[in-house]
Amino acid sequence: MKRIKTTETVNQEGKEVLISGWVNARRNMGKIAFLDVRDRFSMIQVVGVPDELDANSNENLAKIRPEFVVAIKGMVNKRGEKQINKDLPTGTIEILAKEIIILNESETPPFEIVNEDRQANEELRLKYRYLDLRHERMKNNMIMRSKVLHFLRDYLQQQDFVDIQTPILSKSTPEGARDYLVPSRLHQGKFFALPQAPQQYKQLLMIAGLERYFQIAPCFRDEDARADRSPGEFYQLDMEMSFVTQEDILILVEEMFTKLVKELYPDKKITETPWPRIDHQEAMEKYGSDKPDLRKDKNDPNELAFAWILNFPLFVEQTEEDHFYGAGDKWAPSHNMFTAPHEEDLELLDKDPGKVRSYQHDLALNGFELGGGAIRIHDMKIQEKVWDLIGFDAKQKEQFQHYFEAFKYGVPPHGGIAPGIERLMMILQGEKNLKEVTAFPLTSDGRDPLMDSPAEVSKEQLKELGLDIVSEIK
Ligand code: ASP
Repeated sequence: MKRIKTTETVNQEGKEVLISGWVNARRNMGKIAFLDVRDRFSMIQVVGVPDELDANSNENLAKIRPEFVVAIKGMVNKRGEKQINKDLPTGTIEILAKEIIILNESETPPFEIVNEDRQANEELRLKYRYLDLRHERMKNNMIMRSKVLHFLRDYLQQQDFVDIQTPILSKSTPEGARDYLVPSRLHQGKFFALPQAPQQYKQLLMIAGLERYFQIAPCFRDEDARADRSPGEFYQLDMEMSFVTQEDILILVEEMFTKLVKELYPDKKITETPWPRIDHQEAMEKYGSDKPDLRKDKNDPNELAFAWILNFPLFVEQTEEDHFYGAGDKWAPSHNMFTAPHEEDLELLDKDPGKVRSYQHDLALNGFELGGGAIRIHDMKIQEKVWDLIGFDAKQKEQFQHYFEAFKYGVPPHGGIAPGIERLMMILQGEKNLKEVTAFPLTSDGRDPLMDSPAEVSKEQLKELGLDIVSEIK
């Protein structure tokens, strides 16, 4: 007999079926036992009556505890009017067990799977993430994330975008954060860097003539965690287009997310369409933020207030954190160093750089920065000027030799954006933390309690890489 999903038992009254899954709960009523059996799709009530079962099944039934993995052969029966459970798709029926097989036993989990309070201890939840993900809400977050990514991939393919995987073993990318470094064994003393974003690669793909690129791109930034920032790694819907204006990018993104909400989150309402467009200066003056929360009712879980923030200054004053740029220099890029200035402000680059406006566009959603992007510089003379202003010395410019070289061979005007997947999913799923929409996230202090990483490596491994640990390990 072929195993069917719990949801497929509906309308099968009077038929014999085989289901399998985990025991969610067990209730004893005299000699009869009720088992709630859970699979990915739903849950169904199984009734174990000793007289209906062979000796082996009776033995198994006596043993079964929550989280055992079981297979049940039995008859689908209608539930009595009073026993109907309206919360379950299988709530009108139950299975009268004829055969009970234990596929695997389980110890008592360190927290109750169905109990929301298990959230209290993040360390434990992450150490036993595979149990945490058994919870209905977490499972649903994973399934919706999959559906959203599928929608985005499908939508962009239909719009002529090409899905291209750029390298993970890469070179330091100047997105303004600290890099994760990977030592090279074959070239000792040299390091790969994990990409903070595929920024340079996607621009090189425009030079390559691909015209429309996207990728659900893993990004790695060695930064401290915040509620709206994942420690370590996260994903972006990374996009780049040639021969476009800023307007084209804004429209494409607006239409894509509007359709996504309509198809996958029909209960949600977008506060204002077309999405409001606010000048950076106005946003700062009016809301004191460049990611204002424009919801009319902040308690409405179904409200989505998208807004474009435009006309950012090209530069911001450097802070100590801007270690990447020239030390002691005044300017750091507001978005990144490839962002194009407004044509009419070009003269100000020499006279008053702080006044230059840029083609940066940030997308705000419910008070979060969903993503940013820009029209890029495609003229090396302007790029060099920007590098000078952010204090690049000859050595730093040397690091962009490949970029400099590529710019000699016909760079099309281009631009793009990269909305964050975890931020999007956190807001759509009504979660308060990015970890809730990430299958195996790191702790806020950058550890994985499940795999126990980062971890020490053997002396031999270090030797192969030509490395030595010089500071004392605490
Ligand atoms: N690479 C940028 C970022 O990670 C996004 C973009 O400009 O497309 O923020």
